[in-house]
Amino acid sequence: MKPEETNELEKLHRAVNRLEKLLEISRTLNANLHLDNLLLSIISAATQLTNTAAASILLLDKRTGLLYFEATTSRQKEVLAHMLVPLEESIAGWIVTHNQPLILNEASQDPRHFTLPDQKTNFETKALLGVPLQVKGKTIGALEVLNPKDNALFTEDDLQTITTLAAQAAVAIENASLFRQSDQIAEIAHELRTPITAIIGFSKLLLVRENLDRETQRSFLETINQEAKRLGDMINDFLDLARLETRRILLEMAPINLSKIVLEAISLLRPQADDNNLKLAYNIPPAALTIVADAAHIKQVMVNLISNAIKYNRPGGNIDICLRQLADCVKIVVADTGLGMPAETTDNIFDKFYRVTEHETKAKGTGLGLSIVKEIVEAHGGSVSVESTLNQGSSFTVKLPLEQR
Ligand code: ADP
Repeated sequence: MKPEETNELEKLHRAVNRLEKLLEISRTLNANLHLDNLLLSIISAATQLTNTAAASILLLDKRTGLLYFEATTSRQKEVLAHMLVPLEESIAGWIVTHNQPLILNEASQDPRHFTLPDQKTNFETKALLGVPLQVKGKTIGALEVLNPKDNALFTEDDLQTITTLAAQAAVAIENASLFRQSDQIAEIAHELRTPITAIIGFSKLLLVRENLDRETQRSFLETINQEAKRLGDMINDFLDLARLETRRILLEMAPINLSKIVLEAISLLRPQADDNNLKLAYNIPPAALTIVADAAHIKQVMVNLISNAIKYNRPGGNIDICLRQLADCVKIVVADTGLGMPAETTDNIFDKFYRVTEHETKAKGTGLGLSIVKEIVEAHGGSVSVESTLNQGSSFTVKLPLEQR
């Protein structure tokens, strides 16, 4: 065979190889709905097919306008997972804002190069090929491969391969979010069924049995009224949580006096505590304690925690609320001397719909209040935790940063 022919044959082999790999990925994509695994297989195929040292998928967080690493072949995944990449001063940002692919065979010289990920992971980006990720005509991020091995240059073939993989990744991301949505709808529908069954059942009894005495009639109507109210609460909680989870709520951050907000929540719930014969006490510094936060949401956190301390308490029990400033955060503790919970359940109570089985007959609820608390606190860069002893009481601690980073 002539040298040109050998060359052509090699090229053909390589092309077939790439195509096979792409088909393989297509098949995994259709078979597997777990987004993390899919994206990992896409980026590892990207490095194999372009013979490069690393690959990453960056996605745009619409709320902050910053890019974050959704998947990477880097060994330092944790470091990159916490890193935010600005749109204006990065190559990925340029690809996303211009919605155009880019090949840079000397990336380190490029003024757009955002050096922080390299610094933090001890990596040196020498050459880069990146393409935009598009879902329904909108650019949602970028797929990048870095540093061809043996100092080779990126080729037109590489660009085509990465473009095909980017399309696959975009479909996977879209499918996964659609899947998550339908999963959520199924879960919600399931939870709404309980109160609806009660409402239908009791109203039917009232309609069919005409000779029920007034007292029975009244108790049926009360159940219907309570269940309808619970349905309303659940719908409000669902909406709040859905907005928080998808970060569609823009927190209105401003300097707020936390002491005042905690006191407002306490006044709001004091009548309820009195009705249940509970002693509600607090220890709040008299001077203003200012933090940067969203006032309405922080108040909701307090209301949810204090109403739980009331609901899961015993007549004559105590509730103590304490607010303190620490070196770099504020700490709020809501403690009660109520029912407490079994040790093995404390890991789950912040999960959606989770309710401690022993409590189900004692107090009505949706199992969403604490998930909302967690979402709000974490959106502020804070944390929430619980300590509890069964039959003795529980203590919830919220920490919020003094300054927003
Ligand atoms: P809900 O109160 O609507 O059921 P939450 O998400 O607020 O939902 O709480 C989840 C579960 O955690 C409750 O069902 C309850 O079993 C448990 N829990 C919450 N707060 C307390 C508390 N202060 N004491 C004991 N158990 C609690």
